[in-house]
Amino acid sequence: METRKALGELLAHQKRIDRLAAAGGILFWDEQVNLPPGSAEFRAEQNAHFSELLHRESTLPEVGRWLDALEAGQDALSEDECVIVKDARREYDREVKLPGEFVARRSKARSESFHAWVEARRNNDFASFAPHLQKALDFARQEAEYQGAEDPYDFFVDVYDPGMSTAVIDPLFAELREGLKPILETILAAEDTIPPDLFRGFPVDGQEAFLREVVTAFGFDFNVGRLDRAVHPFCGGHPLDTRMTTRYDPDNPLDSLSSAMHETGHALYEQGLPAEHPGTALSRAAGMAAHESQSRIWENQVGRGRPFWKHWEPRYRAFFKEQLAGVDSDQLYRAVNRVAITPIRVDADEVTYNLHIILRYGLERDLFAARVAIADLPEAWNERSRDLLGYTPESDAEGCLQDVHWCEGMFGYFPSYTLGNLLGAQFWYAAKDALPDLEADFGRGDYKRLLGWLRENVHSAARRYDANGLARRVTGNQLGTEALLRYLRERYLPLYSA
Ligand code: ZN
Repeated sequence: METRKALGELLAHQKRIDRLAAAGGILFWDEQVNLPPGSAEFRAEQNAHFSELLHRESTLPEVGRWLDALEAGQDALSEDECVIVKDARREYDREVKLPGEFVARRSKARSESFHAWVEARRNNDFASFAPHLQKALDFARQEAEYQGAEDPYDFFVDVYDPGMSTAVIDPLFAELREGLKPILETILAAEDTIPPDLFRGFPVDGQEAFLREVVTAFGFDFNVGRLDRAVHPFCGGHPLDTRMTTRYDPDNPLDSLSSAMHETGHALYEQGLPAEHPGTALSRAAGMAAHESQSRIWENQVGRGRPFWKHWEPRYRAFFKEQLAGVDSDQLYRAVNRVAITPIRVDADEVTYNLHIILRYGLERDLFAARVAIADLPEAWNERSRDLLGYTPESDAEGCLQDVHWCEGMFGYFPSYTLGNLLGAQFWYAAKDALPDLEADFGRGDYKRLLGWLRENVHSAARRYDANGLARRVTGNQLGTEALLRYLRERYLPLYSA
């Protein structure tokens, strides 16, 4: 087949898959945001049919023929076109190894497992969830076998972050853990001056109105996106129809705000990806580490900074005059940047957050290697929590049942959060070097220069580079721990030194 014709066919096909997958994204969003409680089983069936349909479309034999023709005629392709072909080949080869009925069964099991997990966490009942978790692990092992993966866990790490492996992650995480120790020791030795019940009774409507102003100022495009409420904040959908969620607690108003800023970072990345060749590597995110780097920059480096609060504090006080009457500016800033050992990862501060990830990373590997059995997971979790955080969870609900990932079969995803933190801090210093007085912009509520820089350097690169390649290209350095540790020291030690 002629190369240009094969490329045209492949591009049209990738666009169809992109549109179809986005429909699946809306089904998922709807399940999280709107689903009536009695419809879960029906939705599980729909999801199963849908994934089978998507799988069938993705693995049509003609796709393989187009890819063969394109690889044979590679000399006639531009560099970008080669990127498209390479990525499409990687995805196609993986999909084609999975039987359709396996994909459907796995999808149904995931939906069931999700609802079982919600119940188990609510009732603190690990035993009722254990069979579902076992199933999820069995599906993952079976998938790795279909793929002929040498190391099943490494296979899944690579799914979320192309090019990444435990060989790269191990030394990074070991170095990070060592680097965090003295920072955390200093912080924990200092007096915590922020009363835990500082914020009480923040009306949800006010919280939502305020954070909508913030995410609009960041650059979230409500013309092609929505912000709704869900139990677990996420950003899904598509660059042309972005669906973001957050959740509200009247007594923890900083949670909805930081979650919304985090998800906005994801959304800005998606909305900033080039739209020219939908579904191809030229319009897809580099990987989950790159994705998390974007969410973290907006949530943390921007959203926890003094310049951000300098601009937004008066507005915040206008919304919550009574609630903030006894809180001065310094207390507000310290509350935003409070560091404390907490059992729940999603509530964790920036300093302890990565220890929560290191805990999960170790456990996932042990589960895959059968060094830890599902039945022993609660105790193994608690032991690691003591070792890493010096904390024993009071229940499984605040221990091994707290996260949604495993019930949905998302093994190998957790490391991306910490890799994203590393990458985010590296990007942050690169942006500050490139853009003089960047933070002065934030003091005026202006984020255009930062967003423009991220668009130009990170978003527009799409999937042309893996996480390490992106780090080298944007910052001149490999993915490393130095920038994150520097950032944490600069932000937190002044707040916690005697
Ligand atoms: Zn995220």
